[in-house]
Amino acid sequence: MKATLTVLGSGTSMGVPTLTCECAVCRSTDPHDKRTRPSVMVEYGGKVVLIDTTPDFYAQALRERITHLDAVFYTHSHADHILGIDDLRPLSYALKPNKLPLYARPDAAAFLRKMFSYIFEADYKFGGLAQLELKPIDGPVEVFGARFDPVPVIHGETQIYGYRFGSAAYLTDHSEIPEASMVQLEGLDVLFLDALRHKPHPTHSTVTNSLRIVERLKPKRAFFTHICHDLAHEATNSTLPPQVRLSYDGMKLEFEI
Ligand SMILES: [Zn+2]
Ligand SMILES: [Zn+2]
Repeated sequence: MKATLTVLGSGTSMGVPTLTCECAVCRSTDPHDKRTRPSVMVEYGGKVVLIDTTPDFYAQALRERITHLDAVFYTHSHADHILGIDDLRPLSYALKPNKLPLYARPDAAAFLRKMFSYIFEADYKFGGLAQLELKPIDGPVEVFGARFDPVPVIHGETQIYGYRFGSAAYLTDHSEIPEASMVQLEGLDVLFLDALRHKPHPTHSTVTNSLRIVERLKPKRAFFTHICHDLAHEATNSTLPPQVRLSYDGMKLEFEI
C-alpha cells in the first residue's frame, strides 16, 4: 500500500538554531537550516502514525495541520523524543472511547509511565488528561494493516529502537548498529539515519560513519536526521552522493508500506 512520510523535525536534541549560539548555521536565513527536534509522521490507508513526540510537537502539528492521529511509536525515552506527549490531548480525545496507543520498548514504556505518572496513574476520571495506552513491544507489530519491526540500535550505553515499516526505516539515535539489525535493513527504498555532525560523538553517528552504513546497505534513497548546527544544509548536501541528502523539516516522500 502507498504511504507518505513527513519529516516533522530533523534537528538534534537542542534544536537548530541552538539557544545562545551565534554560529553561521544558527543565524542562517535558509529555512532548511531551521531544525526542530526529530520526529516523522507516516500516513497510509487513511491512518496517521507518529514516531516520537518531541518538545516541538505542538508547533510541528500546527505546521503540518495534523488533525487526526491513530498511533505513536517511540524510539526511546530521551527528553527530545518524548516531551510533546501532553499535546496529544486533543488528538486522543477524538478517539474516545478508545485510547491512543503508544508503542515502545518495554524499558521506554516503563519510563514513560513513571515520567508521566500524572497521565498514566491518574486516580481521577474527570477531563483534562491525554487518553493514552502504553503498549510495550519486543517484536514486530501489525498496526492498521502495516507491519512495524523494531530495529535494535546502540545509542551510547543503551539499546533503543529504530523502526522498519515496509520499504522504509527510521533510525534516529545510534552510535552503532548491531549486525543482526543490519540484516533487518536490507533491501530498503528509504533509510533515515542519524548523522549528527562530522566530529565523533559518544552516542551519535557522524556523516562519515552514516555514509559507510549507506554504502553497505544500499537503500535507494537515504536521509540524514538528528542534525546539529555544525552542518549547513546546502553546503553539506553538495558533498554527499546523489542518493543521500540531509532531511529537513516539512520534507515529504512516498514509499510502499
Ligand atoms: Zn535524540
Ligand atoms: Zn537520545
